[in-house]
Formats: sequence, structure tokens, C-alpha cells
Amino acid sequence: MKTKAHATNTMALTICAAAGLALVGCAAAPQKDAKWGYTGDRGAERWGQLDPAFADCDDGREQSPIDIPAGTHAHSPDIVFNYRASALRIGNNGHAIKANYDAGSSISVEGKTYTLLQFHLHALSEHTFAGEHSDMEIHFVHQSADGEYAVVGVMLDRGAENAAYEPVRAHAPKKPGRAKTIHGVTINAIDMLPTDRSYYRYDGSFTTPPCTEGVKWFVMATPVELSGAQISAFEAIYSGNYRPVQPMNGRAFH
Ligand SMILES: [Zn+2]
Repeated sequence: MKTKAHATNTMALTICAAAGLALVGCAAAPQKDAKWGYTGDRGAERWGQLDPAFADCDDGREQSPIDIPAGTHAHSPDIVFNYRASALRIGNNGHAIKANYDAGSSISVEGKTYTLLQFHLHALSEHTFAGEHSDMEIHFVHQSADGEYAVVGVMLDRGAENAAYEPVRAHAPKKPGRAKTIHGVTINAIDMLPTDRSYYRYDGSFTTPPCTEGVKWFVMATPVELSGAQISAFEAIYSGNYRPVQPMNGRAFH
């Protein structure tokens, strides 16, 4: 894959040179085929240089994830979760296990409604609490009618088996491929949240390229438990798919 991406990028430059365009203009053209990962020369420290479209990964001032220091005030649990059951439509996008959620579920917070689009899993957690990772973190990704993103993050720690996560574990594809509907299996994201829904609120970004900013983050202060076997099953597919914490650059918690 690396070889293919290199070949394509070289070809793009050649075409630009042949057309007599300024190199700067060529370099600014997004290269959709750029591949990224979590280790080595395509790892998180290099994302900003892999593709001009990924510049925010390097240059952004409000990036995610972040560390949530000890003593940070948790916001009172005022998110209204209008979640309904959904068919389980689950895939492996080459970076994470991801489930696309049925239309009709949303959250209301800060005077706005955001529709639940999908959830996906990271191991270890991306956010840290006082420098400590949880075993995993799940991200529930929402979007408002005017295109704004809100992500609810939940820490997943080893403990008791969690029935709400069991269909996700059981049907998580081991190999990358398109999402498939698992017939006869439904899930409900409401059951995947902690009972106490106090949260840490800050403004950040997507934690994967292109690291787009303007994302409203709601990180649940209380973790959810999964059994060691459940965590291990997810880790067997992806472990190490987390971006290191990013500087706050003067941002405050809301
Ligand atoms: Zn994520």
C-alpha cells in the first residue's frame, strides 16, 4: 500500500510539472489516497505531512484528544439522549471497528440537536484522566442539521461483562471491509453509556486525519465496564489505534 501511495503521489507531481503549474499549487491539491496509520512513517506524529489536506493535524490549535487533569470540574449531566434501538450495521474501516447507526437517534445539548451517525472504538483510550489511559474508549459521533459535530466519548475499563457491548464484540469484523447489517441483531446506544452522565466539555477536533476542528467534545467522567475477555477480543483486532494527547493551547473546559 505504501508503494502504491508513493507511486500515485509521484505521478501527481509529474502531472503538475508537465502542466507547468507552480509547485505550491500542486502541493495544495488534496491527495485523497494518502494512507495513514498509528505507527512508523505514517504514524500520528507524521499525519500533518502525509497530505496537504491533513495540515490541521500539525497546525491546528484545538486538537483532540487531550488529557483531563485531576480536579477538572465535571459538567452536570444535562445532555438529553434521544437514543432508540438500531440494527447492528458493523464494519472494519482499516483503522477501527465502526458501527453505523440507524436514523432517528439524537442528543440535545446547548440548545442544539445532533443526530447519532456512528460509533467506533479505540484501544487504548484517546483521552486520558490525569495522564492515565483507560483500556479503551468509544466515540459516539453526532452531527447537527447545519453540519456541526458533537462527539460523546466513554472510557471502557476492565471489570464486569457488559451485555450491551456483547453484540458489537461478537460481530466485530477481524478484517477491513464495508459495514454489513447483522440480521436479527439490534443494539441500543443508550445501554452503552454510564449511568452517571456528568461530562467534561471542551472544543476539539477529530482524532484521525484530516483532524478537522470545530468538534464539540463531551467526555463522560464515569467509565463503563467491559470484561477482560470482551476488551481482549477488541484488542485482538485493533490495539494501539489511539492518537497521543494534544496541547490545550489555552483552551478551557466549559
Ligand atoms: Zn474516535
